[in-house]
Amino acid sequence: MSALHTLGVAELADALGAGRVSSEELTTHLLARLAAHEHLGAFLVHDADSALRQAREADARRAAGRAHGPLDGVPIAHKDVFVTTAFPSTAASKMLAGYRSPFDATVVAQLAAAGTVTLGKLNCDEFAMGGSNENSAFKPARNPWDTGRIPGGSSGGSAVAVAARLLPAATGTDTGGSVRQPAALCGVTGIKPTYGRCSRYGMIAFASSLDQAGPIARSAEDCALLLGAMSGFDERDATSAPQPVPDFAAAIRAPRAGASGAQPLKGLRIGLPKEFFGAGVAADVAAPVRAALAECEKLGATLVDVSLPRTELSIPVYYIIAPAEASSNLSRYDGVRYGHRAATASDLLDLYRRSRSEGFGPEVKRRIMIGTYVLSHGYYDAYYLQAQKLRRMIADDFQAAFAHCDLIAGPVTPTVARPLGSQTDPVAEYLTDIFTLPASLAGLPGMSVPAGFAYDDNAGGLPVGLQLIGNYWQEAQLLHAAHAFQQATDFHTRAPAEKTAWV
Ligand code: GLN
Repeated sequence: MSALHTLGVAELADALGAGRVSSEELTTHLLARLAAHEHLGAFLVHDADSALRQAREADARRAAGRAHGPLDGVPIAHKDVFVTTAFPSTAASKMLAGYRSPFDATVVAQLAAAGTVTLGKLNCDEFAMGGSNENSAFKPARNPWDTGRIPGGSSGGSAVAVAARLLPAATGTDTGGSVRQPAALCGVTGIKPTYGRCSRYGMIAFASSLDQAGPIARSAEDCALLLGAMSGFDERDATSAPQPVPDFAAAIRAPRAGASGAQPLKGLRIGLPKEFFGAGVAADVAAPVRAALAECEKLGATLVDVSLPRTELSIPVYYIIAPAEASSNLSRYDGVRYGHRAATASDLLDLYRRSRSEGFGPEVKRRIMIGTYVLSHGYYDAYYLQAQKLRRMIADDFQAAFAHCDLIAGPVTPTVARPLGSQTDPVAEYLTDIFTLPASLAGLPGMSVPAGFAYDDNAGGLPVGLQLIGNYWQEAQLLHAAHAFQQATDFHTRAPAEKTAWV
């Protein structure tokens, strides 16, 4: 039995660099673990031959003194929302079952150029619509802390794979919380950067004014290494920003001006929006979040009260804007150009109708219908235009709050992971996005950091996440604070108990 799967990205980078382990050895070990944990539903597809070939190439580069950097030879996998030439790309939808992209997403190409070894593609909610991974057309993913519970979504497979130690890191996407929520519910670390930080080229579109890529890993340090490789301007994405990419990994280790060893967060003002700490948060989530903030105070941070008065409105605003954009983006799946095509049809309209009825799942259909409605003549002004105005006000509220603080903190989710199949009301499910939607609508970077556990008599410990939100382009500051917290706590190092034999 080897313990290679217990190592994170930074530790593996060291071990690979020092020649203590080869990428082939590591990849072989993780492939065996993956096979022993298929019941978690983390992967939609994986390929041992291709992974081992990439690993041997990485080892050969290193042996020749031409390693591509710290990530060379580190195994990862991509959320199945990123298109890849080496694997099918489905967005967990029957509409795209078996679809092969002729090109790689920019984020996939960037991580390949950094030398990472891609094991496969990870499960998610269909077209990233959902927060539980139950909307995958193929299978649910299971929370490794309690396999009867959701892992969160939509990047559920990514968080499951990292939490269960099948991978040191994975990519995810976040439109309204899909990196932060599964990271929180699975006890791992995830960051959604500022809108425009990572290229969306080759990310299967859900809601284009909100979609962002982001890494999920065990620690802030590991996320920093991944995010550095995933960031940067891309001329193929008109919304990617020509913003310099800091060395995130170096930034987290650099001491703050005026800080000391015992007080690494000295001078940092953390704003606590009163709307994030009200009756809507379960007591077993609020307590670890409060305790984590007390720890930040011990590390030198100052807690200040702030307000984000339109927090509640972020739900209707998001659930108008995101479906509106989705209805437009998903009109490309018509059964003609690519994707599922109905076997028989009487005419063109019938072909569209049948292909879309057969190819899309219920949540995707619901959103296409809502989106088409709010954009339709006569309703556009009443819904879509109003939502756009409120979106601006939500972004302005953050700027007012940032006049008093450097970071904003709160819970990621109102409750811990719920049992699989326990929510049948879509609107009640939408309400659980309340704490992640505001930063998404504002385009701000947000992070989920393991903050502790809620104890349930039946399930034992279930992870709780602390959300940190920064101002535009302040990912380094977010990662720095999370790293300081992780140097003083061990929540991010805890792994779920193994329910199957270790390999
Ligand atoms: N849960 C939200 C939704 O269902 C967010 C999903 C996401 O970020 N992709 O839309």
